[in-house]
Amino acid sequence: MKKPFVIAIDGPAASGKGSLAKKLAEYLNFDFLDTGALYRRVALYVLKQGIALDNTEKIIKAAQEFQKNLSEPYDDATLRRDNVGNAASHIAQIPEIRQILFDFQQNFAQNAKKGAVLDGRDIGTVICPDADLKLFITASTEKRAQRRHKELHSRGLDVKYEAVLAEMQERDNRDNVRLKDHMRPDIDNHLIDTSDMGPDEVFQKALDIYNSSSR
Ligand code: C5P
Repeated sequence: MKKPFVIAIDGPAASGKGSLAKKLAEYLNFDFLDTGALYRRVALYVLKQGIALDNTEKIIKAAQEFQKNLSEPYDDATLRRDNVGNAASHIAQIPEIRQILFDFQQNFAQNAKKGAVLDGRDIGTVICPDADLKLFITASTEKRAQRRHKELHSRGLDVKYEAVLAEMQERDNRDNVRLKDHMRPDIDNHLIDTSDMGPDEVFQKALDIYNSSSR
């Protein structure tokens, strides 16, 4: 049986990697996994149980309980909240949590019918180091904060740009410290800086890279 074609898309928060991954998967008819949502779902479960974010033991226990629900459908809107994203970046620092989610992510990629697109932080380095195509999507911190600010406003949330920027920097720092060895463009990564690009342009560029590299 032919192995699925795996596309790994990594990059920081609000770089545009999520929208790109979804669009590419739709276009190519590949399975799609938003791996950040896995961390967010565990984080939401932890928050709902009222577990403090420094109680590692209870967080691991909660994640072990939640593990069986990972294939279930979920409500994306609740997960997108900033408090859930922040909690996700806290719990993602726990090696046991990463291990629990590691197996699920690898199985997803290996068992895809035609191909799989996974987006996250460590897909090309840890989860699917043998991915057929690796994209690293980035943008300046200010641009990413502007996008997040606009998105929050469109959802009726009146938050100051400065507050969004500060939170983005804080999350970047936390992610960068923990993932310093993983969250880097691999040697075989294609880097796309989306700071001055619209979503259609990013999609076209990624598609061109796919077309020139597909086996
Ligand atoms: O991408 P998203 O903002 O949904 O991810 C939420 C958090 O989950 C990130 O800030 C990061 O800390 C963590 N994460 C991770 N590894 C991944 C995906 C997300 O550590 N593959």
